[in-house]
Amino acid sequence: MKELICIVCPRGCHLRVDEEKDYLVTGNSCPRGAEYGKNELLHPVRVLTSTVRLEGAAVRRCPVKTRQPIARELMLRAAKALDAVTVTAPVRCGDVVLSDLLGTGIDVVATKDFPKTER
Ligand code: SF4
Repeated sequence: MKELICIVCPRGCHLRVDEEKDYLVTGNSCPRGAEYGKNELLHPVRVLTSTVRLEGAAVRRCPVKTRQPIARELMLRAAKALDAVTVTAPVRCGDVVLSDLLGTGIDVVATKDFPKTER
């Protein structure tokens, strides 16, 4: 039996997941919690948020995130892949800064606008 907090909504239900009963979830107040609890034990995923190097703007880093959640086990490799990325202003929120992250088919996108500036 595993205990975890559901992070799907702010209510934060305390879930219990029984691995011996086909990942039966109890403590959830809605079906999304049951899905989250089962997935969290079988194949946990997270949205990766990070920053990449930015040139031609007033600041040097551009915040980014994956468009969809990726497998938690890929987080470290994904962060390393983003170390090699540099974007150049102007950047628009939603611009793809790295496509098909690690062959997942999931893009990494900018989460903020950065107009081009002269330094
Ligand atoms: S189980 Fe449902 S109500 Fe409870 S935290 Fe998860 S999403 Fe929210």
